[in-house]
Amino acid sequence: MEFIPISKWGFNFPDKKPLVIAGPCSAESREQMLMIGNKLADSGVHLIRAGIWKPRSRPDSFQGIGLKGLEWLKEASLVSGLPVTTEVATPQHVEQALKAGIDILWVGARTTVNPFYVQEIAEALKGVDIPIMVKNPINPDLELWIGSIERLYQSGLRRILAIHRGFSIYKAESYRNPPMWEIPIELRRRYPDLAIICDPSHITGNKELVANVSQRAMDLDFDGLMIETHADPLEALSDSDQQLTPDELAALLKNLILRESSTEDPGFISHLETLRHQIDLLDKDIIDLLAKRMGISREIGSAKKENGVTIFQMNRWAQLFDNRVQTTIKAGLSDQFAIDFIQSIHKESIRQQTEVMNNGMDKS
Ligand code: PEP
Ligand code: MN
Repeated sequence: MEFIPISKWGFNFPDKKPLVIAGPCSAESREQMLMIGNKLADSGVHLIRAGIWKPRSRPDSFQGIGLKGLEWLKEASLVSGLPVTTEVATPQHVEQALKAGIDILWVGARTTVNPFYVQEIAEALKGVDIPIMVKNPINPDLELWIGSIERLYQSGLRRILAIHRGFSIYKAESYRNPPMWEIPIELRRRYPDLAIICDPSHITGNKELVANVSQRAMDLDFDGLMIETHADPLEALSDSDQQLTPDELAALLKNLILRESSTEDPGFISHLETLRHQIDLLDKDIIDLLAKRMGISREIGSAKKENGVTIFQMNRWAQLFDNRVQTTIKAGLSDQFAIDFIQSIHKESIRQQTEVMNNGMDKS
């Protein structure tokens, strides 16, 4: 897939990162939208967001203001001089948003998750040249996210970007939707030309954490931020804990440290090359050592086979696990990495031994 860069979308979007999208979770009243439009004009924001149709988990929560909110969005656009975007989840939403002249559409996390819905939206957009932003599905499924983008692409859309809003889990603790950064990073690896915007509001669910996650996204070279902003967050009808005031948004943007994704400085480049060379050599050593370790695992596998002993022995694993996790943590690596690392080695070791036991066939 080949995407049109956001700076060429025709909205005065900047060449330089970040693209900033802000506005309330939901459009609630004409006054609210006019106020936010006025406050966001000349604030460094490039696009105003507001949900009209809200995919709420529970039927007794505010479900969005519906159709009449589209006009308020257009009025907010008029007073701010900025383009506007809203979420569409059905072909009817698409039709109504297009009729109202909404500039950019977005597909929400609860819609991306369902190929039937996305396909219907894609059909409704055939032959329509409008930019569309695709949030990740609520579950951590990169293929589903890419599949949704492909469906829209197949309808002829080329002004597409992805929004990373984190992934839903049971009993979320520090974050409402943990970011699992490796997923958008893998998306970036596969589609380097696809812009990815971070939505720290839905990731954190908590206005106190929004600035930190925004900085993290900038350091991971995301293309922009979508930050929920409300003139009076405590009174917001949805997502009141995570919305910033326009002043808080301005402070966040002012304090963001923007680093270059590359530099021409020869001193830096050669220093980096030296260090990277060392990393390359060390990675090779690590892989050689792992291969050697697995060779010994296989020998253990043959011995177990000859003696009719099971591959897995709980005592050995319990001891090894504790010991290696402690050693890894003592070496300065994180608890989670220590656990993942040892489990991953053990899993491969079991796979190797299973292969040996089954005469070269891994039946796992
Ligand atoms: C939103 O942006 O307000 C929204 C509903 O987001 P998500 O689809 O990421 O939950
Ligand atoms: Mn929201």
